Amino acid sequence: MNSDKSIDLYRLFTSHICESKFTVVLTGAGMSTESGIPDFRSPNGVWATNRQVYFDEFVSDREARYEYWRQKSVAHREFASSVPNIGHRIIAKWQQDGLISRVITQNIDGLHQQAGCEDVIEIHGTARRVACLSCDWSEDAEIMVHRFLADDKCPKCDECGGITKHATISFGQQLNEAVMQDTIDTLRKAELVIAMGTSLVVEPAASIPWINNNPNRTVVIVNRDETGKDHLADMVINGELGATLTELDKEVERALKAD
Ligand code: NAD
Repeated sequence: MNSDKSIDLYRLFTSHICESKFTVVLTGAGMSTESGIPDFRSPNGVWATNRQVYFDEFVSDREARYEYWRQKSVAHREFASSVPNIGHRIIAKWQQDGLISRVITQNIDGLHQQAGCEDVIEIHGTARRVACLSCDWSEDAEIMVHRFLADDKCPKCDECGGITKHATISFGQQLNEAVMQDTIDTLRKAELVIAMGTSLVVEPAASIPWINNNPNRTVVIVNRDETGKDHLADMVINGELGATLTELDKEVERALKAD
């Protein structure tokens, strides 16, 4: 049963999303926990069981590189079998209905695209591909993880023999300039930004909702726990994403039908 307070919040959210001419959704790891992919900072998150391998270590140290591939091959099993959850599907539907202009994700799992979202900005890259650090060669991650597991050795580039790594941004690695420029340009147009399933503590992603800010922009946070930026948001809705987006979608559907 929804309380009066949550119904008021859902209605306010609905009026924001229906009135905005350019809405950007920013998602984080919490978007995919209901697809069985752990986030980083929850008690059972990735950092509870794994050490972080920084980019410079990965490049310079063979053992760190092996540890990275070991972790990635375990994570790959979760990724490969995971499917979009109801939250991914509602976001894709809202985009198809013209309520969302662009999705920017910190996630590397490709689940927004699998749900039907188009033109997604992946600011931390994708774990669906493995790329060479020295040349332009890249390959499907599935093939490369199998190669690592079969040989028990970090796979080399087929073209130049260089070091290969998932096409994601590791800790200590520079973000892709073109992708960040696309993000900045997209935010220039944003009237409404909805941040979902992100703790908003990893910079620069945590500040994305306020890039190129203007006095008319509304920022909404939808997340299970408190985030690092709740105090800056115009509206915060706390809850599990699947259940919360389902309720919000019912309210949005009602408003669209009444129009
Ligand atoms: P985070 O782990 O710091 O925070 C996740 C947030 O999501 C938490 O605040 C938690 O309260 C919330 N959350 C978890 N499950 C939820 C649910 N079902 N409903 C509502 N809220 C829920 O994640 P972050 O802010 O995205 O930053 C961590 C980095 O981790 C990102 O850069 C991302 O690239 C990377 N990452 C990605 C994946 C993935 O691709 N699925 C998984 C783990 C980490």
